[in-house]
Amino acid sequence: MRQSKLFLKTQREAPRDETAANAQLLIRANFIHKLMAGVYSFLPLGFKVKEKIIRIIREEMDKLGAEMIMPALHPKSVWEPTGRWKALSKVMYQFKDQTGREMGLGPTHEEVIAEIAKHVITSYQDLPIAVYQIQTKFRSEERPKSGLLRGREFTMKDLYSFHADDVSLEEFYDRVKESYQTVFKRCHLKSYVTEASGGDFSKYSHEFMVESPAGEDEILLCRLCGWAQNKEIAEGKAGGRCPKCGKGVLEKVSSIEVGNIFKLGTRFSEPVGLVFKDSRGATHQVIMASYGIGVERLIGTIVEEHHDERGIIWPESVAPARVHLLLIGEAAPALIKFTDRVYDDLVKAGVEVLYDDREGVSPGEKFADADLIGLPWRAVVSTKTVAADKVELKRRAETETTLVKPKEINAVIK
Ligand code: ATP
Ligand code: MG
Repeated sequence: MRQSKLFLKTQREAPRDETAANAQLLIRANFIHKLMAGVYSFLPLGFKVKEKIIRIIREEMDKLGAEMIMPALHPKSVWEPTGRWKALSKVMYQFKDQTGREMGLGPTHEEVIAEIAKHVITSYQDLPIAVYQIQTKFRSEERPKSGLLRGREFTMKDLYSFHADDVSLEEFYDRVKESYQTVFKRCHLKSYVTEASGGDFSKYSHEFMVESPAGEDEILLCRLCGWAQNKEIAEGKAGGRCPKCGKGVLEKVSSIEVGNIFKLGTRFSEPVGLVFKDSRGATHQVIMASYGIGVERLIGTIVEEHHDERGIIWPESVAPARVHLLLIGEAAPALIKFTDRVYDDLVKAGVEVLYDDREGVSPGEKFADADLIGLPWRAVVSTKTVAADKVELKRRAETETTLVKPKEINAVIK
């Protein structure tokens, strides 16, 4: 990627109404652009990050079920049997089209998937089964102010599972729990599986919480054994003993909910009429569960966790590129030739490179942009390094630099 052609212009200042670090940094580094409160475009670098995160999620979800995609535009009729057209009217964008038909934009998809499942699931032999999608959700969030952490339009990975009995549900639910922890670990986030209110069918649902001062949730956490519970339903209290290990002292901690898994029981299958026949031909309601991860919220959380006063520090697994190659100083032909060669060789070797080939931009500005954009490695070429047939390498998170031959770059950054 040549920076001069990337539709990228960093900014010194973020919009005044953005107070969250994730929004300020991502806007200044030009990963995202704010269209209105809670609605953002993903520019080329932001799009790359989103793609990487989606790839991680997809790799883990494919082990659990097949991917599909459902519409964002829903008729009122699909929401009525469950009573949620009314119950979610404050959150769901609902409107009439030009012919007077009532419809809305999906804030979630339990109703739609249950409707589809009626055509797929008829017998116990069809169960258990799970499907997922990575799709755009719409929620009329009140005055969103946390940047990517709370959008009005956002991407959710939502997985739905269908079971004949509770044993099958429990077994699958635990597998999803494991796989969520893998997803967050691969995104370099430490998450706590947190007990939260469970609705009518189970005592608890589980939220995946990342400790952060930017979070809107409060949890009680035992640092000794990792047990955590959402403050909203808490049985314990801050300063009290951990109910799980009996040794740790519970701490009140701000956190971001990056994922949520929920046993639904027959809450949706009953009103929709989603049933199956057992081996003796008797009819039962299908047991369901749903499991969500917010893609943009995950990106926002990574930025909240991985930044300093100069900019973002992307973990390797989700960085938009591995190396930021800077051509520093006056663009003399020999210097350009040398740097172009370094770029071409790295690309040929399969390394993702952002090449700051811009002319007429001062070294200071290029260094500041590299820190703001936050790729894991910075590689500088200047008249001085070229004279020694070398490139100066530095990790974003460190201050120490090393001079290496172009041929050696690959081995050093591996
Ligand atoms: P919250 O409690 O934060 O409002 P929720 O409990 O309503 O979220 P779910 O319906 O469980 O969220 O959605 C699943 C996941 O989708 C959440 O865990 C979160 O990661 C993400 N998510 C939910 N709402 C938003 C939003 N407005 N913007 C971005 N991501 C969101
Ligand atoms: Mg929640």
